[in-house]
Amino acid sequence: MRATAITAMSLLLAASLTAAPAATAATVTGGPSAGTSAPAPANTASGSVSAAATAQDYASIFTGADANLNGSGWSACPAPIEWTVDTQGLTSAQADTQIAHLTWAFGQWSQVSGLTFTFAGIEPLTYDDTAFALSPADGSPAQLHHIYLDFVSTGQSTRLSGSTVGLGSPTQVMASSKEIVAGDAVFRTDHVKRAHTKELRSLYLHELGHVLGLAHASASANVMFPIVKAKVSLGSGDVNGVRAMTKPCAA
Ligand SMILES: [Zn+2]
Repeated sequence: MRATAITAMSLLLAASLTAAPAATAATVTGGPSAGTSAPAPANTASGSVSAAATAQDYASIFTGADANLNGSGWSACPAPIEWTVDTQGLTSAQADTQIAHLTWAFGQWSQVSGLTFTFAGIEPLTYDDTAFALSPADGSPAQLHHIYLDFVSTGQSTRLSGSTVGLGSPTQVMASSKEIVAGDAVFRTDHVKRAHTKELRSLYLHELGHVLGLAHASASANVMFPIVKAKVSLGSGDVNGVRAMTKPCAA
């Protein structure tokens, strides 16, 4: 756990979550085009994965990390939640494409959760791989009620290696209300440049699910299944999970 002092808001539990790669890594299945391989998850060693997503097939990303924060989620208020992205390493056309896919992925989560998101622009960011933290490159403090996204090369990260092509996590949580108020996700540039639309959308759905507080699901019908393929519709576990964790607006 990191212990970052948040003096401005005493209610904030500072960065209580480390982005454990085991819990947040998205992997892609191997294929000649992807050039990666993903190990079978421990719970699907037989290779016979249940295709049906059950309603209960979700978990909080805080399970096992901090029991007091189990079930934490974003609040529907204040709205909308802003997101910015650093498109370093991408051409302008590639950046436009990824922003469109990310906008789509935020929209999918919005439709089922009631959370609203708005793209606030391209923003140069600094990525701290050790702490798993994104912050504005101009030195200004990271904003709350904000999600930072970045494209990272394998040379910038020891976390994004092998079959791991994306990482996502909440980064700030208010302990009293179990409200997530900040989150980050990073995507591996080399994968993004060669992946198909469905692979990209599936990856973005998955990592944003982590940012929204979801851990991995056990059934492949959920986008929170740890191996990202090309699933571009949320499963029942995904939907019920985000609904269970999202905090309504205060009356
Ligand atoms: Zn994951």
